[in-house]
Amino acid sequence: MHVRIEYEHDVCVGTNACAGADPKHFEILDDGKAHIVGSKEEKPEKWAWEGDVTDADLKAILTAAQACPVNAIHVIVDGQKKI
Ligand code: SF4
Repeated sequence: MHVRIEYEHDVCVGTNACAGADPKHFEILDDGKAHIVGSKEEKPEKWAWEGDVTDADLKAILTAAQACPVNAIHVIVDGQKKI
């Protein structure tokens, strides 16, 4: 299925919860904040990645997004916003 992950760098407080839950799609950079692996900055402080993923990958992405305490990660699946 097709997934779009959005990440708000200005909202992130660097807890590492996302990268801990799904290190395949999230990492922590030198500034101590998260980064979606392979993503692009579409607007200032707003990063996004889109691609086709397996059910297992989607589950991990959703787990990571749900783990974020400040709702800095949003997940859209086949055009429908999940988080
Ligand atoms: S879980 Fe949220 S606050 Fe924590 S590093 Fe990831 S995006 Fe930032």
